[in-house]
Amino acid sequence: MDINQIKKLKESLFKPSQSGWMTLEEENKKKMYTYSEGYISFLNEAKTERMCVTYFKNLLIENGFKNIDDCQTLKPNDKVYYINKEKNIYAAIIGQEDNLNIIGAHIDSPRLDLKPNPLYESDELALFKTHYYGGIKKYQWLNIPLSMHGVIVKKDGTKIQIDIGEKEEDPIFTIADLLPHLSNWQENKTLYEAIDPENLNILVGSIPYTKDKINENIKLNIISILNKEYGITERDFVSSEIEFTPAFKSKSLGFDKSLIAGYGQDDRACTYTSMTALLNIENPKKTAICILADKEEIGSMGNTGMSSTSFDYFIEKILKKINSTKTINEIYNDSLVLSADVTGAYNPNFPDIYEKNNESYLGHGLSLIKYTGSASKGGASDANSEYVALIRKIFEENNITYQSSEMGKIGIGGGGTIAYILANRGMNVIDCGISLLSMHSPYEISSKFDIYNAYQGYISFYKTDEILKK
Ligand code: MN
Ligand code: MN
Repeated sequence: MDINQIKKLKESLFKPSQSGWMTLEEENKKKMYTYSEGYISFLNEAKTERMCVTYFKNLLIENGFKNIDDCQTLKPNDKVYYINKEKNIYAAIIGQEDNLNIIGAHIDSPRLDLKPNPLYESDELALFKTHYYGGIKKYQWLNIPLSMHGVIVKKDGTKIQIDIGEKEEDPIFTIADLLPHLSNWQENKTLYEAIDPENLNILVGSIPYTKDKINENIKLNIISILNKEYGITERDFVSSEIEFTPAFKSKSLGFDKSLIAGYGQDDRACTYTSMTALLNIENPKKTAICILADKEEIGSMGNTGMSSTSFDYFIEKILKKINSTKTINEIYNDSLVLSADVTGAYNPNFPDIYEKNNESYLGHGLSLIKYTGSASKGGASDANSEYVALIRKIFEENNITYQSSEMGKIGIGGGGTIAYILANRGMNVIDCGISLLSMHSPYEISSKFDIYNAYQGYISFYKTDEILKK
C-alpha cells in the first residue's frame, strides 16, 4: 500500500474530525454570514423570555401562522401557534400524517431578577436588591452595563412594560465592585465566596428628592421618577417580573468575523435556528413542531416550564382539530425529538478540564449528546442507540456536519436540558444543539458555522419522514 492508499483507508475508517470551515465553499460562507446578521439582531432585540415570545409571535404571524384557538379544524400544511402565559410558545405545521417531529429549545437565560421589595437607599445612593436566576458565576456580573426589562402588573390588571438600557440614549445600570486597592481580603477568597449574592445590588440613582432633611430622600426621588413615568408605587414591584440583562450589543468576533459574541445564546442559538428552520417547511409528511420553553435554567418547573402539562394541552388541541383517532400517548411514543440546547465548547484556556476525544469544538457543527447528567450520568436521558442511528442517517444524508460529545471530564461538573422531560413522556429524544464558549456568562460565544449548520440540520429533521422501526 502506498501512502495515498493508506490515507484513503484512514479516511474511510476514522470518523471525520475536522472543522467545518475546512471544506466550506465560499458561496455557503456568504450565506452563513448573512443568516448570522439576522441572528445577531434577534439577540439584540429579544433578551428575555417575554421578549422572545413577542419576537416570534410577530415572525410567525408574518409567515402565515395562526393562533390555534382561532382555527376550528386543521388540515395538512396549516400553520398554528399557541402562546402560554406570554412566556413560552409552541408552533406547528400540520403534517399529512399525525406523527410528530419536534424540536424543543428554551428562551429563558441566566440573569438578575429583582426581589419583590427591591428599592432601598444606603449611604446616599439608591439601589435595587436582586435575586439571580440560573447558574451564574457572580463575579462576571459586576461592573458591566445592565439593561432592565420586564413587566409590572398593577392590581387592576394594567400591565406596564419596562425596557431601559438598550437604546443609545438610554441610561444603563451596573453593580459596583470593589477597587483592587482595597481587595486583598477578597482576592484571597474562593471565587464562590468572593461575591456575596446579597451584594449583587444594582445602582439606580443618587439625587435627593428635596433639599429638606428627610429620611430616604433619594429613594423617594427614584420612586417618584418611576411614578411619573409609569404610574407605579413601591408596592407594585410585588406583582412584577423585572429582569436585568447585560446591555452589551451582540457582535461579530475576530479578525475573520467567524464568531458571534452576545448575551443569552444559551439557548437563543438553538431557539433562533429551530424556529427559523420551521419557517422553511412546507407540506411536511409529519407534523413539525417547535417548542420554546421557559424556566429551563431553574429546572423546567412551573406553568411555563417543560414539566407543565401545557405542551400536552397544545398537542390535544391539534389531535382534536385534525380528528385524529390516536391517543396522546400513542402519538408521543412514535414522536422524534431533538432537544435543542447549547453545550460547552472546548476552551483552550482551560485544557485540563476536558477529555479531548469527547468534547464539542466550535466550528465542528451540531453537537449530538447522547446523555448529559453528572459523574454517574445521574439525571440524564440516555438516548437509545437505535434513535441515535436514525438521527445520524438524517444528518449524513443531508450533509449536516455534526460531532458527538460529552461536556468536560467525568466528575468535573454536569448539566441538564429538557430532554429527559420529553423522554419521560415516551418520546424518542436526543440532545442536539450548538456549542458555546463562555456559556452562562454575560457574553457567550458561538461560531457562525455552527449556527448556520444547526439551521440546516433542523430543517432536515423537520422534513424527515423516517420513523423509528419497532
Ligand atoms: Mn440551555
Ligand atoms: Mn443553561
